[in-house]
Amino acid sequence: IKTSPLRSNNQSTVASGWIISIQDNTKVRKLEKMRTEFVSNVTHELKTPITSIRGFIETLKNGAINNKDVSMRFLDIIDIEAERLHELINDILVLSEIENKQSDTDLERVELNSIIEGVFEIMQNIANDKNIVLINNSSEKVFIKANRNRMKQMILNLVDNAVKYNVPSGSVTVSAENAGGKVIICVKDTGIGIPSQHIPRIFERFYRVDKGRSRNMGGTGLGLSIVKHIVNLYNGIIKVNSEVGKGTEFIIQLPC
Ligand code: ADP
Repeated sequence: IKTSPLRSNNQSTVASGWIISIQDNTKVRKLEKMRTEFVSNVTHELKTPITSIRGFIETLKNGAINNKDVSMRFLDIIDIEAERLHELINDILVLSEIENKQSDTDLERVELNSIIEGVFEIMQNIANDKNIVLINNSSEKVFIKANRNRMKQMILNLVDNAVKYNVPSGSVTVSAENAGGKVIICVKDTGIGIPSQHIPRIFERFYRVDKGRSRNMGGTGLGLSIVKHIVNLYNGIIKVNSEVGKGTEFIIQLPC
């Protein structure tokens, strides 16, 4: 609020009054709240495996190390927890790299079927363990100008979830098609499905439908958030169709 002196011609007319400046900082406050929540989530997610690792090391030092079987079991758990930390840090780095970008770099002409096959190679052993079949249902070669690693990460995160939240002997079907000047990528599973009330929130950072279950399955809670950011980076859209007990389908539309 200011008082403002006014002068006209040579006469010295002085007026004073109020100028009220109103600023809508709802958006700023919302962003600040999101940032604080993110930091507190990251802290929690990092602390959990570190606490577990330190606990098992302590127990080993207190004598458990003398029992070979117990030691091996504890070392396996420490290994798994360390891997979880590694994945979490990787995902945080990817997210922070892409979230403020307006457009992507290192663009090239990418053929999506080769990317799908590359993702299947990575996922094959994990799928075999659950007897899940991976199917590439694309009928043609589909090209897009994009960053190859980014496309791979986007499809990998969806296929990883489709395997993780699947049932034994289920299937994961992936396809890439051209339709009406757009590229359509579809990842469909026969898994547990997502209850409809959770669907609007699954792209939020660290949002999990079933916290305990997802953590046990090794998820960081950032996979879909990364997918959504990549889709946004390419001005695309992502849709989800899901039915509990039947399966889930993610459909991505990207402009060619
Ligand atoms: P996470 O690392 O926990 O898998 P994501 O961001 O990838 O995190 O997914 C968020 C949540 O959405 C998951 O915890 C899970 O509850 C749900 N979800 C994601 N994909 C699927 C799917 N294909 N089937 C069932 N639930 C899924």
